Amino acid sequence: MPRAGRSTMARRGGGAAAEHGPDMRITPPGPKAAAVMEKDATYIAPSYTRLYPLVIDRGEGMFCWDVDGNRYLDFTAGVAVNALGHAHPDITREIAKQAAKFIHMAGTDFYYGVMADFAEKICALAPGPWPKQCFLANSGTEAVEAAIKLARHATRRTRLVAFFNAFHGRSLGSLSLTASKAVQRRHFGPLLPDVSHAPFGDLAFLKTNLFAKTCPPEDVAAIFVEPIQGEGGYHVASPEFMRGLRELCDQYGILLVADEIQTGLGRTGKMFAIEHFDIAPDILCLAKPLGGGLPLGAMIARKELHKWPPGSHANTFGGNAVACAAGLKTIELIEREGMANAAPMGEWLSQKLAAIAAQDASVYEERGLGLMRAVEIVKNKASRTPDPDRRDAIIKECFRRGLLLLGCGETSIRFLPALTVQKGHIDAACEILEVVLQNV
Ligand code: PLP
Repeated sequence: MPRAGRSTMARRGGGAAAEHGPDMRITPPGPKAAAVMEKDATYIAPSYTRLYPLVIDRGEGMFCWDVDGNRYLDFTAGVAVNALGHAHPDITREIAKQAAKFIHMAGTDFYYGVMADFAEKICALAPGPWPKQCFLANSGTEAVEAAIKLARHATRRTRLVAFFNAFHGRSLGSLSLTASKAVQRRHFGPLLPDVSHAPFGDLAFLKTNLFAKTCPPEDVAAIFVEPIQGEGGYHVASPEFMRGLRELCDQYGILLVADEIQTGLGRTGKMFAIEHFDIAPDILCLAKPLGGGLPLGAMIARKELHKWPPGSHANTFGGNAVACAAGLKTIELIEREGMANAAPMGEWLSQKLAAIAAQDASVYEERGLGLMRAVEIVKNKASRTPDPDRRDAIIKECFRRGLLLLGCGETSIRFLPALTVQKGHIDAACEILEVVLQNV
């Protein structure tokens, strides 16, 4: 295994790496990281999906440092959460300011201004000219859970439709929609009844197989869709598919739920990915970057759907005051600087990854929108044979050289840096990837 020594790194990384790249002083995990991992293995449930031993100590902008002093270039943004990079000073200031006033008072039973202000902001941002109301949660899965419940309550229908390779969360309701990997479902059943899956992008299957044979559309409460399937492999929906779904929903009185938990809030170069398709959902689910790194999710729906009475749905922490304050500042910063940067930097990243795909026999293609991009690693380009082991090996070797990446789908690698990423960071990341592809 090649050692990622500091001088080696600088030589390999060239100009871009020197300023915008990692600074690796010791091959991870170093001794301090190993100690944390040992304790973690003793006390933390083994159900997580960690592929490499990053033990973070602190973060700043595009970088984070591990407990042994290595500096990494972060192209994961904490799994699409840190939209403005690590520890943005305006967000940390807002968090401290609100925490000093009060941290928690349970929006489920009491009122506070910052929760109402936050709700007003996201309802105004969400696509569609109609009045909206939102339910605030602590995570993506809870936002989806709220959408399932509201859709059933509002329509008095039970059936739900989602797509293969979808990821909507891991609580039992949202997991019933998730169809990404068998391990996520194995031994957890029975899940919700009345859930049907269709191939992503296949309107004909929906009409001629589901609606005509097994799943009468008049019984369907909602269709859940990610405009870009995230965990499932960064597959971008076609405009025909998304508009076709909207039309089917309108035809049968079905609610269209856009799960923009990963795609939302500027990631694709527009505030919401669904805006690339010129349609609006009836219900929008958000989380990940929404709370500026604090746990916050939202389910925003047409106001007329919110006929559920007091007591029918609530939670203790949803709309937490500190999370809402951080979220308001985060949205302000995304609107002011993040989103405008995501489109051109996404284009730059796309060009660099496409050039790598063109010259490397194991990179099938690059795809995505804005700063939500992936490359697919294959054994053979002609047959598109997946190579998940090599995909994992590439990600691990990038980590050893100081570039943080994540996998998605069966055999792809995703690139989702902070929206504030600069060309130099992208160049440094692609330099590392190119070297790794030649060496793994
Ligand atoms: N929906 C999508 C599209 C996601 O990407 C995720 C998480 O990756 C979720 C739902 C679940 O969110 P959480 O992990 O916050 O529960």
